[in-house]
Amino acid sequence: MSHPDTDELYDCVVVGGGPAGATAAHDLARSGRRVLLLDKAGRIKPCGGAIPPRLIQDFEIPESLLVARARAARMVAPSGRTVDMPVEGGAVGMVDREHFDEWLRVRAAKAGCDRRAGSFMTIERGSDGTATVVYQAKDEDAGTLKIRTRTVIGADGAKSRVAAEAIPGGGETKCVFAYHEIIRSPAPTDGFDPARCDIYYQGRLSPDFYAWVFPHGETTSVGVGSANKGFSLRDAIRTLRKDIGLDGAELVRKEGAPIPLKPLKRWDNGRDVILAGDAAGVVAPASGEGIYYAMLGGREAAMAISELLETGNVRALAGARKRYMKAHGQVFMILGIMQHFWYRSDKRREGFVAMCNDKDVQRLTWDAYLNKRLGKPDHMAHLKIFLKDTAHLLGLAPARPERT
Ligand SMILES: Cc1cc2nc3c(=O)[nH]c(=O)nc-3n(C[C@H](O)[C@H](O)[C@H](O)COP(=O)(O)OP(=O)(O)OC[C@H]3O[C@@H](n4cnc5c(N)ncnc54)[C@H](O)[C@@H]3O)c2cc1C
Repeated sequence: MSHPDTDELYDCVVVGGGPAGATAAHDLARSGRRVLLLDKAGRIKPCGGAIPPRLIQDFEIPESLLVARARAARMVAPSGRTVDMPVEGGAVGMVDREHFDEWLRVRAAKAGCDRRAGSFMTIERGSDGTATVVYQAKDEDAGTLKIRTRTVIGADGAKSRVAAEAIPGGGETKCVFAYHEIIRSPAPTDGFDPARCDIYYQGRLSPDFYAWVFPHGETTSVGVGSANKGFSLRDAIRTLRKDIGLDGAELVRKEGAPIPLKPLKRWDNGRDVILAGDAAGVVAPASGEGIYYAMLGGREAAMAISELLETGNVRALAGARKRYMKAHGQVFMILGIMQHFWYRSDKRREGFVAMCNDKDVQRLTWDAYLNKRLGKPDHMAHLKIFLKDTAHLLGLAPARPERT
């Protein structure tokens, strides 16, 4: 039988110790809250591990966690045409999630949060309505344990159990499934550069997303995503590795995981539970970038919980999504349209890669990715033109009145 393993009442239990959860736990603990970080533990998150400088800066990530720096991206079209996009004045950081995530969790613990290894099962309610988090301890002998808490942050990733149980509409996320193989990095060749991220826009490798080769120093992630359930991601990676002469490279690991496609409409239960990161569905469409957005979500969730604990006003919870979408909703919308339009057919992919040759498009893309802002006014103008064209091509723009 399960039992409360302590009478202690936590201010917050954070479920999930990935970038979102570890950030939320860190921020709350640092502000003096009594926090418990509960993580399943034991599995390395499958991930390409590319992070922008903005993340490194905002979340104070030490350079020592970067296993490589990519100074360019190579876009590869269906025809095999390549367009190189050098990163001007910066680099994309590459991290290994095994060490990156653990470093974040250790930082949270150093700030004062308690850590436990176990799998979230459910939230029970006491007679006064207080939440009790029930979990299966990692150490099986410990069985099912319970923790009383004033609030809960669900940062347990895509297909979040907390979201499915506690948030209206929370179990309904649409996902891309991504799979990658970690191989021992080869010596640099024409087709492989340890300081470049290669992105393949080819229907035979992915009918609706893209495939990638991301260097990580001693190892390299070769991966692909697709929402098409009938499409074999493993076959696609076999093909890609063969195409680029990496079929003989030593395989270190292979693994896959879902990537959510759309922010959920609600992130909180209007009472004491809020979601962050993949659990809330916040991954950038078109690029699949989720680490920065997860950490930002963790930070916003922690702020909302702090406000709730301080004021008792449950509306503080909804503030997290509002602030977040105000800052990033436009980028998500643009990237969503891009994915919908450009990843549809090889003809369009060819056009997309050709468009990436444009220096303004490159500047705009890098500025949006590296610094998380939508460009200076002249770039804005380009973007508007691009969006207008896209909207017309998609039939989304209002029809022009006919002249008589
Ligand atoms: C193959 C692949 C490649 C990717 N490449 C990139 C990339 O290059 N750059 C980028 O920015 N993003 C990338 N992403 C997306 C990125 O990995 C995620 O968006 C990001 O990890 C989300 O962070 P999170 O903390 O919300 O969730 P996660 O990182 O998924 O962390 C969730 C945590 O919750 C724990 N957990 C789950 N269930 C439970 C439970 N029941 N009880 C307790 N704990 C639980 C897990 O152990 C895990 O630690 C990639 C994703 C995939 C699948």
